[in-house]
Amino acid sequence: MTTIKASCPGCGEVDLTADDILLRIGATRSVNSYGFTCPDCTEFIEKPADDRVVRLLLSGGVVPVPVHVPAEALEIHSGPPISHDDLLEFHEFLDGDTWFEEFSGR
Ligand SMILES: [Zn+2]
Repeated sequence: MTTIKASCPGCGEVDLTADDILLRIGATRSVNSYGFTCPDCTEFIEKPADDRVVRLLLSGGVVPVPVHVPAEALEIHSGPPISHDDLLEFHEFLDGDTWFEEFSGR
């Protein structure tokens, strides 16, 4: 089996096999990461995985695990967060009789 070298912040370079590594592949590159339990200090180490690291790990036989990130988490948000007043206003809006017509455009 291929030996994969990784580095632990506490122990330095450690030797792993493909089975030791958890490679998480997300919907966008920025959420790709890999993790392993350090064989020396037993600490779980997790690091971001760029394209080069992903390719290296795949070629070393690591089986990737898909990560499902809700689509909302990847949306670009603008404007201020919803406030207590917004919520109250929405509540009062729903309390009225016309909200369904207003939302459905009738
Ligand atoms: Zn370690």
